[in-house]
Amino acid sequence: AQLDTLDLVVLAVLLLGTIAYFTKGTYWAVAKDPYGDSLAHTNGAAKKGKSRNIIEKLGRAGKTAWFSMAHRPTMVADLEDYDYENLDTFPSDKVAFFVLATYGEGEPTDNAVDFYEFIHAEEPSFSGEGDGEKPLSNFKFVAFGLGNNTYEHYNSMVRNVNKAFEALGATRIGAAGEGDDGAGTMEEDFLAWKEPMWAALAESMGLEEREAVYEPVFDVVERPDMDPEEDQVYLGEPNKNHLEGTSKGPYNANNPYIAPIAESREIFTAKDRNCLHMEIDLSGSNLSYTTGDHVAVWPTNAGKEVDRFLNITGLAPKRHTVISVKGLDPTAKVPFPSPTTYDAAVRYHMEICAPVSRQFVSTIAQFAPNDEIKAEMTKIGNDKEYFHETVIERSLNIAQLLEIMSNGEPWSKVPFSLFIEGIHKIQPRYYSISSSSLVQKDKVSVTAVVESTHKPNAPHIVKGVTTNYLLALKQKQHGDPDPDPHGLNYALDGPRNKYDGIHVPVHPIIMVGPGTGVAPFRGFVQERAAQARAGEKVGKTVLFFGCRRRTEDFLYEKDWEQWKQDLGDSFELHTAFSREGPNKVYVQHKLQENAKEINELLQQKAYFYVCGDASNMAREVNSLLAKIIAEQRGLPESKGEDIVKAMRAANQYQEDVW
Ligand code: FAD
Repeated sequence: AQLDTLDLVVLAVLLLGTIAYFTKGTYWAVAKDPYGDSLAHTNGAAKKGKSRNIIEKLGRAGKTAWFSMAHRPTMVADLEDYDYENLDTFPSDKVAFFVLATYGEGEPTDNAVDFYEFIHAEEPSFSGEGDGEKPLSNFKFVAFGLGNNTYEHYNSMVRNVNKAFEALGATRIGAAGEGDDGAGTMEEDFLAWKEPMWAALAESMGLEEREAVYEPVFDVVERPDMDPEEDQVYLGEPNKNHLEGTSKGPYNANNPYIAPIAESREIFTAKDRNCLHMEIDLSGSNLSYTTGDHVAVWPTNAGKEVDRFLNITGLAPKRHTVISVKGLDPTAKVPFPSPTTYDAAVRYHMEICAPVSRQFVSTIAQFAPNDEIKAEMTKIGNDKEYFHETVIERSLNIAQLLEIMSNGEPWSKVPFSLFIEGIHKIQPRYYSISSSSLVQKDKVSVTAVVESTHKPNAPHIVKGVTTNYLLALKQKQHGDPDPDPHGLNYALDGPRNKYDGIHVPVHPIIMVGPGTGVAPFRGFVQERAAQARAGEKVGKTVLFFGCRRRTEDFLYEKDWEQWKQDLGDSFELHTAFSREGPNKVYVQHKLQENAKEINELLQQKAYFYVCGDASNMAREVNSLLAKIIAEQRGLPESKGEDIVKAMRAANQYQEDVW
């Protein structure tokens, strides 16, 4: 999430629906601390046995809306950690902030379901102690939504919650903001919404603005008395069991499984691009999957980028110094286990290669090595266009930006706490499983294109973190003792050599209904071919596959041929090669050519799956299908659109797009 809470710390209460989300929004994840259960001081959310009474918690933590009085007058909370019955007694001198993501077909994220149902009940059962006419007459709130305009129910969570609150008598301060990940403007939408909201808040609460002085959220203490090799120091292990070498299931986002890679190979024939097929072994983990599921892979940052970061921040000489990190306030969660080292925190836990947020540039400016650099950084932070030109267009990550700004002079004045606050916690990447659980129950395969993108004005090529890490693993598996794709130099052995023998940390995720692209489709077809070989009757499968050239990136060509032999007429493959002929041919063209058959199959209740690029392909396929249905059935186009909508609602049309 591009939301920087730094600016919100002068406010009263943050009730976060969710702040983490995945690009393009197909899969809106719940922001849970992956280390939630393993940390010594996870004092943020109310855990089992802790109070679910937010009013009580607010009082205890001494939180107040008056920022002149308190050190950090905010509290961040996960909606699912608290009860809602007493919101009618929410103090009128406090403000609740809601940051709400919309998931799938306009639904709340998992952690917001109870809350959403509660406030939408016919008569929400408030404790009844409030003294207003309507239950929430004293309740003040601010709301911002995280959505994606390529979806029909754009930002419906924030819209609906806003409506429900107003109906219950609550007072909203400022406009209900809407961030659009579809247009890639999430941070800018947030910044544009924030200014007027801020003014409204100041007016409503009688607040006075004053220059924000940086107050660290975390206390980072160096421990020269400790040796990094001591047993209790985390060198990248995600939790205590991993640290102690007693890792055990259940495996989930808090507890990844360090899975052996059974097999890996390159499946593009083009020399300048890579696509990896990897078989990840789950046997012994007790993990199971269903054809069409996803697997999450936890990356490690490239050594080159870790070095860059530690050099420019002046931390390189003490990279292996042990540090203890704790929240300075009971609601601040440390995003990695401690004690650890600077090296391990940066390498395994911080998303240092991601694009930089404009707010972070503004905040870090005050710690520039000299006033000239400070002035330039402040300018970049304040000017949307200039920021775009100097940072975004050049694809700079934070360390690259700092390097360029100071000409390599270390930024040693920046408190490490600020980096922990301003850089996101590293996120796992999701891959559609491209194997069938029927055929290989203990091994999932993934099909991953190695990310390598170059913007015209960028001084360098951006190398995807996870996919280049996987590429290095593949190279190691194929005999290179010290793979170094593009000089990136990954620590493949993992913390304390725990990944040695070619392992990757993974955890499973399951989407509603079968997931779907050529990755999941490979699994579907593989499964159906196995069923056919076993003499079972299988339904018709029609696959539309597109790529650049048959000779370069036609994935799994041999597999399709094999499965065609197993499936006979039950399997049809239509290929679209965009760069072979004079005209570009895409899957959309092939769909149009086969309109009649598609319509007939849909009338027989065929399922329609779309997988791959969300921004163009998926949207075009959606409208094309509506057109095909309308044409074939002699209906107006709007009716075709309604039919596709109904198919979506009935899960007959499913997307797995990113
Ligand atoms: P990242 O490092 O995360 O980079 C991602 C993008 O951001 C790149 O395009 C990169 O150029 C850009 N970027 C990074 N840093 C900067 C910067 N500083 N400035 C500007 N731009 C920057 N992928 C597959 O290949 N196969 C699949 O089957 C598949 N299934 C998926 C299923 C789901 C549900 C989802 C959500 C995603 C799926 N993906 C799949 C995408 C996958 O999860 C990853 O996003 C992808 O592999 C890139 O990961 P990465 O870590 O290598 O790249």
